[in-house]
Amino acid sequence: MQWLYCDFHIHTTWSDGEYSPGEVVSLYGEAGFDVIAITDHVLDAESISRSGRPVSELSVMDSSEFGSYQEELWDAARIAWERYNMLLIPGVELTNNTSRYHILALDIKEYISPDLSVEEIIACIRRQQGISVACHPYIRNHSGDDPSFHLWENHERLATMFDAWEVANRDDLFNVVGLKKFNYIGNSDFHEARHLLSWKTLLQCDRNVESVKAAIRRNDRVSLFLYRGGKIK
Ligand code: ZN
Ligand code: ZN
Repeated sequence: MQWLYCDFHIHTTWSDGEYSPGEVVSLYGEAGFDVIAITDHVLDAESISRSGRPVSELSVMDSSEFGSYQEELWDAARIAWERYNMLLIPGVELTNNTSRYHILALDIKEYISPDLSVEEIIACIRRQQGISVACHPYIRNHSGDDPSFHLWENHERLATMFDAWEVANRDDLFNVVGLKKFNYIGNSDFHEARHLLSWKTLLQCDRNVESVKAAIRRNDRVSLFLYRGGKIK
């Protein structure tokens, strides 16, 4: 069976990314990727109010925009499939900077609030048959901060609740996650063109969303891949 080249953590102009969903599709499609997930930020209410600014000025998606966001991603997904034979999975990064967890929700159908607890978020994602991913659960070299610290602090309890953990994020490999042998994937956390050169995931499965989701959950034919540019195929 074929190995699919995947990136499940990509930001667009719907939050703090540089490219629109359409431009992201062209970039990844031309490079030869098989599966991408677009995962723009929604931010917890306390972080929004602490900023003292309206949500529209914060480079995050407003919950009221979620429907239009989903519609644009569905349109982009159709183009990705027709032009490049590439799957686009709509997702979101539930960003809670107050309680310090970032969680990817892939293939969800309805809005989920980042103000919920980690357990509630995981349950909501599961109910919608989505995939939950613990984002960058350890210290990253490029930022120095650790916005998902809560997840690692509670990793013993949360280990098997998530469908996967990001064992690699952009340039960073999280050895602590690898040592625990949790379900894993690697993602770019793409915001701008140079982030394309980064850790990615290879999955051996059929080219459809349900098979990709099953392959992440099963996590037996998965590998990390450091993309260094050029055409994959
Ligand atoms: Zn994040
Ligand atoms: Zn991100």
